[in-house]
Amino acid sequence: TFQRAQRIQSLEISEIVQLSEKAASLRAQGKDIVALSTGEPDFPTPAHIIEAAHAAALDGKTKYPPTLGIPELRDEIARRAKVTRSEVIVSTGAKQVLANAMFASLDPGDEVIMPAPFWTSYSDIVLLASGTPVVLPCAMENGFRATAQQLDAAITPRTRWVMLNSPSNPTGAIYTETELLGLAQVLRRHQHVQILIDEIYDQLSYAPFTSFASVAPDLFDRMLIVNGVSKAYAMTGWRIGWGIGPAAMISAMGAVQGQITSAASSISQAAALAALTGPEDFLEKRRKIFKARRDMVVDRLNALPGVTCPRPEGAFYVFPDVRGAMTAKGFDNCATFCAALLDQVGLALVPGRAFGLPGHLRLSYAYSEAELQAGLDRLEAFITGSR
Ligand code: PLP
Repeated sequence: TFQRAQRIQSLEISEIVQLSEKAASLRAQGKDIVALSTGEPDFPTPAHIIEAAHAAALDGKTKYPPTLGIPELRDEIARRAKVTRSEVIVSTGAKQVLANAMFASLDPGDEVIMPAPFWTSYSDIVLLASGTPVVLPCAMENGFRATAQQLDAAITPRTRWVMLNSPSNPTGAIYTETELLGLAQVLRRHQHVQILIDEIYDQLSYAPFTSFASVAPDLFDRMLIVNGVSKAYAMTGWRIGWGIGPAAMISAMGAVQGQITSAASSISQAAALAALTGPEDFLEKRRKIFKARRDMVVDRLNALPGVTCPRPEGAFYVFPDVRGAMTAKGFDNCATFCAALLDQVGLALVPGRAFGLPGHLRLSYAYSEAELQAGLDRLEAFITGSR
């Protein structure tokens, strides 16, 4: 039988993906399922972006692209971030940027600090790269955000990175300027620690967004800024993300990428270039729609007994505390609660445990209003026992 490598003994396909795939297969069997489990805009990729990809393919942009990305796209990303081309890498999704960074920097036993709840893949990617995730629990009462003191206390001589995500998946929390200044102050004292700041939801902010680079430009030499087109431009399937960091870090990440994917798809890079250089008025329109959905979802959740849902400031997720409802229904953990939801009322939501904070669930509101209402009707029926 097949023997797994030591470092992937417990690695599985992400719990979010597993859940979405289970919901899809139940639906294929004819079951009536509402899935609010995926972080993927329901909007289409704008037509001008698709046309640019088509034109690029017809124009012969079908050969191996340069390892770190096509110059035009790297230059546009560099121009926006006020850095140079050598400080930019384009990868197959923001996910590959994270993986490149971890493979390029971690030796066995190196520690990566991540405030929880965090996006499921953070800990898995670190483990895959032989690192050790160090989780900082961040309670709902503290806005799901790590404090400077918490960070300071978690840093050891083995710490290689701290991973921050603002706005956050799954909580939607945004670090304020003051909070970022406090974290930066701690990081200035620990010069061996690098900072990965994942800002993939920055364009989906409903409160003022402050980038980490703007509060601590002096830390750029140790910073990796992660972003991409997946979320804001509704381009999840095109698989384009990028990293911005010091040239030595970017070139090490390029060495990793070159041996794994060679480069990101040439046609998708042409599409991403069109996204960044074309009209962007749809971003504001979509942001307004997401915000209205957020308010509707938060209000309905807070009306349910045993459910408490803070109003997130960004991204397209809510992360309610459902401990009261769980206990009332006789469940002692959020995973069995979610499994029962899918079984009994055909609703797919992701258990908080997948993000390192049990007792919660994640609901994505990147779905149509009708789907959201239908999902919330089912959750209500389940919790209030009328179905
Ligand atoms: N970072 C965060 C916080 C995410 O939620 C996601 C996707 O869910 C990603 C990165 C990965 O994005 P991409 O589709 O560009 O790989």
